Amino acid sequence: MRIQLVRHATLIVEYGGHRFLVDPMLDDAGAREAIENSPNPRRNPLVGLPVAAQDVVKGVDAVLVTHTHSDHWDKTASEILSKSVPLFGQPADEAKFRGQGFMEVRPIQDSARFGDVEIVRTGGQHGTGKMAEMLAPVSGFVLRAQGEPTLYIAGDTVWCEDVRKALRECDPQVIVLNAGAAQFLEGGTITMSADDVVTVCREAPKARIVAVHMEAINHCLLMREDLAFQVEAARVAGQVAIPGDGEWVALLK
Ligand SMILES: [Zn+2]
Repeated sequence: MRIQLVRHATLIVEYGGHRFLVDPMLDDAGAREAIENSPNPRRNPLVGLPVAAQDVVKGVDAVLVTHTHSDHWDKTASEILSKSVPLFGQPADEAKFRGQGFMEVRPIQDSARFGDVEIVRTGGQHGTGKMAEMLAPVSGFVLRAQGEPTLYIAGDTVWCEDVRKALRECDPQVIVLNAGAAQFLEGGTITMSADDVVTVCREAPKARIVAVHMEAINHCLLMREDLAFQVEAARVAGQVAIPGDGEWVALLK
């Protein structure tokens, strides 16, 4: 397995002999309005891609989309991806993908297969209380294959029962967490805060954590440097990788 952070939650995952593209957000910097009712009102994405969008989609065997908020599935992604690429996502997003012309949409109720790779869909809470209801549904994915470490891509969720359940049932060795502590002017964080990341480290002490979803969207207030400081203070820094955009994650340590 190899994981490259492209930008924000967009990943290239080489797994089980396949190249997966996760949550493609491929718009140019500043292509979209700032997220409404949020602090720091700047146009999104805040930063450009580390490589051209066309190069991100090159050679991709399948695409995984945790949910279709614009920071996980955007106009450029829907336009430049091949309409025949296998596109895995949650059932609630099937109609949207088909409406955009994708022909190989594969909604995952519980689990699916791509070649020898099993893809299990997990739940999540995109915030707490009413906010989580408004932003639902969101999903995560667990990838399993013979000879590969179990990979859990948690998606946009705070620490919650769904995440605890995924850790307990799937026992992942590598966990990608969407940090950033995204928030609106009111209503608390809707993605993982530094405290949430630390909690996952403690609940899965043998797992390697990869923290992404930072510094690319205006309402994500937790910066990489702050997260690095806080995981260090909590004495879990040895478990956590915080890749820069375009970086391949060093997983063996
Ligand atoms: Zn997000």
